[in-house]
Amino acid sequence: MGASPLTDGVGRVCWPEKTKTTKEDVTMSTSAKIDELIAASRELYDRKLIHASGGNTSVRDGDVIRITETGAELGKLTPAKIVTVDLDGNVLEGGQPSKEMDMHLAMYKARSGAQAVIHVHPTYSIALSTLLQGELASAVPPYTAAFYVRAGRVPMIKYHPSGAHSLHEAVAELAPDYHAILLRQHGVIVAGKDMSVALGVVEEVEQCCEIAVATGLKGAQLTDAQLQAMDDALGRTWK
Ligand SMILES: [Zn+2]
Repeated sequence: MGASPLTDGVGRVCWPEKTKTTKEDVTMSTSAKIDELIAASRELYDRKLIHASGGNTSVRDGDVIRITETGAELGKLTPAKIVTVDLDGNVLEGGQPSKEMDMHLAMYKARSGAQAVIHVHPTYSIALSTLLQGELASAVPPYTAAFYVRAGRVPMIKYHPSGAHSLHEAVAELAPDYHAILLRQHGVIVAGKDMSVALGVVEEVEQCCEIAVATGLKGAQLTDAQLQAMDDALGRTWK
């Protein structure tokens, strides 16, 4: 599985882009990537991080993105519900991609190491966003090291309607500096080096949001010195 999760999938860590070699490799890659997308999407649904037909997921597969179709239910995803687009969003295969495609593409364009993007509507992440005011550079309180190592600093953008160009632009603006972003009264978007890493970040964000709500935002957070020690160990800085 490559390098340690302590050094991958967080902050500004970058990974080399996958290069296609032979037709056989491409076919194998495609199948594995789609399996990864379907398995993670079902897991998100099973863990109640998304309900009904909300949310959307994608993986990078060489030069193309495999993304869920608009209206697809993540808990019942099949290969037929996955659309292939290029990095500019042009459909190469399949139906109509998710209406949130542009914020997925913004993450891939800004973060060369991103191989997977998850957008879901977890209950406590949304609950916390309703308790916070305005746009924040650091919205999710860092209560645990498990959260901070994986998610790092998580900003919040103000409310935008689902699918709105302004929502995608707001995500694009933060994507170079953050791999997890809280969307006020909507949910979260997370990029990772693979689906498993991205899913872990979503779960850590949701747990810290739950702690924030359960403690009425009064729980003790990690200190600046403790956070700095983790950032130093991971070799990352924040804007
Ligand atoms: Zn959404």
